[in-house]
Amino acid sequence: MTSLKRVTVLAGGVGGARFTRGVLAQLAVEAPDATVTVIVNTGDDMWLDGLRICPDLDTVMYTLGDGINEEQGWGRPDETRRTSAEIAAYGRGWSWFTLGDLDLATHIVRTDLLRSGSTLSEATEFLCRRWQPGVRLLPMSDQPVETHVCLAENIDEHSVGDYIHFEEWWVRYRAKVPITGFEQRGLADAVAAPGVLEAITEADLVVLPPSNPVVSVGTILAVPGIRDALRSTAARVVGVSPIVGGAAVRGMADACLRTIGVETSALAVALHYGARSRGGILDGWLIDESDAVALPALAAAGIRSAAVPLWMTDLPATTAMAAAALALWPGARS
Ligand code: GDP
Ligand code: CA
Repeated sequence: MTSLKRVTVLAGGVGGARFTRGVLAQLAVEAPDATVTVIVNTGDDMWLDGLRICPDLDTVMYTLGDGINEEQGWGRPDETRRTSAEIAAYGRGWSWFTLGDLDLATHIVRTDLLRSGSTLSEATEFLCRRWQPGVRLLPMSDQPVETHVCLAENIDEHSVGDYIHFEEWWVRYRAKVPITGFEQRGLADAVAAPGVLEAITEADLVVLPPSNPVVSVGTILAVPGIRDALRSTAARVVGVSPIVGGAAVRGMADACLRTIGVETSALAVALHYGARSRGGILDGWLIDESDAVALPALAAAGIRSAAVPLWMTDLPATTAMAAAALALWPGARS
């Protein structure tokens, strides 16, 4: 048993959601009174067919609420696509982005709430009343912040130098088209959503799951005030590497890292975040066994580390990862 009371997680979609499941399972054993807040990336959000889509918020909500399509990692199980097919019959809709019929209900309810004046935080809280994810789910910001990428090649109707939405690059082009950079639109006018900064400064432990360091965690860190809150909190900040043996385990994080000039390795991602003792955001960093050679370099950089299996193959494996992350600083805070 540890004295952990408040744990805060900074999450993207699939990696963040799956790891949080392990955190909850481990806390149930180690600190049953602990409450968990998950701050979610909203940089992937977009308007589609008149609806506000929040891919990462929904992935975390469905995963923790037992409503996720497990094989896919996103969306609902037993989906049908009749509505999308009807929209396509009108020559509308985006053929490269799947919106299942059950999932569409979530987007319709959220859009209705937003159009009636609710903030995204309020809409998320409302949706969570049904899904009961067992955590407090907070968008990083109530203002829209949308990640766009700058194309380095002509493709389809787009030209070199055009910006397209991150989801179009990711889902339509599988991150295979070269880009020169990312731009988070709306950041200048964005503030952290209610409760976000407090969840970081008042936590006993802050956890960075193996989420994409550029377009998930990186976008959350770019919201004014969040990086400073991580630097100043009395909580310990512990991260889990999304890179194993020099490759993104699932997904295309390597294409994102390459674009910002960071090598695809567990060590390089940790150094990119930096040690808190040296102006960065990390106290601890969990790497995979196969990357254990990086342990001395991490120690030299002022980051406490351990090497354990980091494949989230099932809940027991993921729970063991969470246990190892919590064990870097048992009881956390100072
Ligand atoms: P997204 O928003 O759905 O792309 O999800 P996240 O940003 O939360 O997480 C995506 C990242 O999770 C990927 O880039 C992978 O590097 C990482 N990831 C996925 N599965 C695993 C796993 O089993 N182990 C580890 N260590 N990382 C994983
Ligand atoms: Ca995402």
